[in-house]
Amino acid sequence: MIGASTDPSERRRAELADNLAGVRARVADACAAAGRDPASVALIAVTKTYPASDVALLAGLGVTDVGENRDQEAAAKAAAVAAAGATVRWHFVGQLQRNKSRSVVGYADVVQSVDSVRLAAALAEAARRHRPASRPPLDVLVQVSIDGDPARGGALPDAADPDRGLWPVAEAVAGTDALRLAGLMAVAPLGWPPESAFDRLAAIAARVRADFPGATLLSAGMSADLEAAIAHGATHVRVGSALLGMRSTLR
Ligand SMILES: *Cc1c(COP(=O)(O)O)cnc(C)c1O
Repeated sequence: MIGASTDPSERRRAELADNLAGVRARVADACAAAGRDPASVALIAVTKTYPASDVALLAGLGVTDVGENRDQEAAAKAAAVAAAGATVRWHFVGQLQRNKSRSVVGYADVVQSVDSVRLAAALAEAARRHRPASRPPLDVLVQVSIDGDPARGGALPDAADPDRGLWPVAEAVAGTDALRLAGLMAVAPLGWPPESAFDRLAAIAARVRADFPGATLLSAGMSADLEAAIAHGATHVRVGSALLGMRSTLR
């Protein structure tokens, strides 16, 4: 093709630019359909399994927020991106083991996947001891289980469970100076129509905001279902494959 670059990095940049334009158009259309300002929905590029060079290219294309779901991969990538001179906000969106808290508070700006009182306590302790004093309190989103299945991730909105109940988790995050309760995150359960999943999530988020007025962020919607999430009030969409391409592994 005449004009197509043979430089692999330039080709990747063009591909990411195309994908980004497509995702931004989907977000804009969904906002128009919902009567929302497109500026009210932030895009998080979920770059898991993709290299730091892709994060740097995305940053060059105007992406400001990046999501990762494994600590080891995220820590290395954050260091490489910083070394390359790019600045992005890092969102940790994966299941987090308490013993990884110390590492995560070193690079994450937001942890979206806090779903137990014990994890909130570990993260607060790690933030107090290991987060540079120059950085603001760590933003936390409490991950909510929309279907209330305790076998999977997410705090349980209708359970009195003292460790996994949504209210105990929100109180644990809100009750420490080391963390800031910024809102909620959720993934639509497998097999659920996204419309009903995010409708239920919106109702849960409204109840949480009534008790915790600062918890205004709602991270919901991925490549397959961002329109439904935006229709139900998502302030952040987490988009991986539609931006970067299909991953070879199921994560
Ligand atoms: C991988 C992942 C995403 C992005 O998923 P895509 O379907 O690739 O857009 C969003 N959120 C979380 C928690 C993820 O693990």
